[in-house]
Amino acid sequence: MGFKLKSHKSQVKTLLFVTCNLLLVILITGCQNQRLYKDNRVMMGTFIEVTAPEERAAPIVFEEIKRIEGLLSKYDPQSEISRLNKTGYLKASHETFYIIKKAKEFWQASDGAFDITVAPLVDLWGFTDKKYALPKEENIKNALKLVGSEKIILNESNNVIKFRLSGMKIDLGAIAKGYAVDCAVEKLKQAGINSCLINAGGQVYALGDKFGEPWRIAVRRPDKKGFTETFFLKDKAVATSGDYEQYFTKNGKAYGHILNPRTGYPADTDISSVSIIADDGLTADASATAIFILGREKGERLAKKIPSAKVKIIEKGTLK
Ligand code: ADP
Ligand code: MG
Repeated sequence: MGFKLKSHKSQVKTLLFVTCNLLLVILITGCQNQRLYKDNRVMMGTFIEVTAPEERAAPIVFEEIKRIEGLLSKYDPQSEISRLNKTGYLKASHETFYIIKKAKEFWQASDGAFDITVAPLVDLWGFTDKKYALPKEENIKNALKLVGSEKIILNESNNVIKFRLSGMKIDLGAIAKGYAVDCAVEKLKQAGINSCLINAGGQVYALGDKFGEPWRIAVRRPDKKGFTETFFLKDKAVATSGDYEQYFTKNGKAYGHILNPRTGYPADTDISSVSIIADDGLTADASATAIFILGREKGERLAKKIPSAKVKIIEKGTLK
């Protein structure tokens, strides 16, 4: 109803738009006798792209990411997250417990900006089912009562997770892809593979090097058309969060999918895009989202707390 939807024609079109054209362009300049195998699949709501000198790398990555998706996806009614969201109680697997514990740590470190309990708000704004809507003030107020990671109770002794309030829900959209990539990297290492590049819709991990050189990764700059930021990575993750890919517009105003858990509205930030390099994908993924919400000043302070992290922020207002 009067909404102009960004990249709405089909999900695949959206994914192509995000993954191939804009957010991330991976530049590969292989030599003739140094062959790289490339393969991709749609999983976790995005394109998972694998590049490696060994053909057996991609199937290992896809199998592991599929397994993690089965645990964490809120779209799969059988997943552990869906069961927790339905009943407010879960005797979790070691992995699900671990990621929720990590999410709570990021909630604390980001002063509440990163908060997986935003799920009722994500639903309300229509980002879950892509039926975007400007919610009523009253509905936002009500949803906000269910938000707050202090209301997730974790029992380390038996891996039981409980919600304090009925109606609470969690959404791991800002951390699960990074974690899934880490799990896939672990499987590759176990299989004796020491060179591979994984790109899960902008969550990238560069395992080892590419024929002796670091992997070269280029991330689109939303402020300068056709320009990219280049990173050279070896055994590092890089994640990018921004407001220029998933949003809808209403009356000329853009509403992005990263929400401020304090206000219930899309994050009002001075950042257009943030990329963060970290030792693991989970940290890069969660902290990129958190920094985006916090804005440049507080975001840079958060980045300083993350060991060996490097952050590249592109601010708004420099659009050309
Ligand atoms: P992407 O998944 O597009 O790479 P992010 O990693 O920044 O982008 O994750 C954004 C997703 O995280 C949203 O689509 C939503 O599901 C969820 N989310 C939104 N706001 C928050 C928040 N404040 N804290 C944690 N997760 C959030
Ligand atoms: Mg993220």
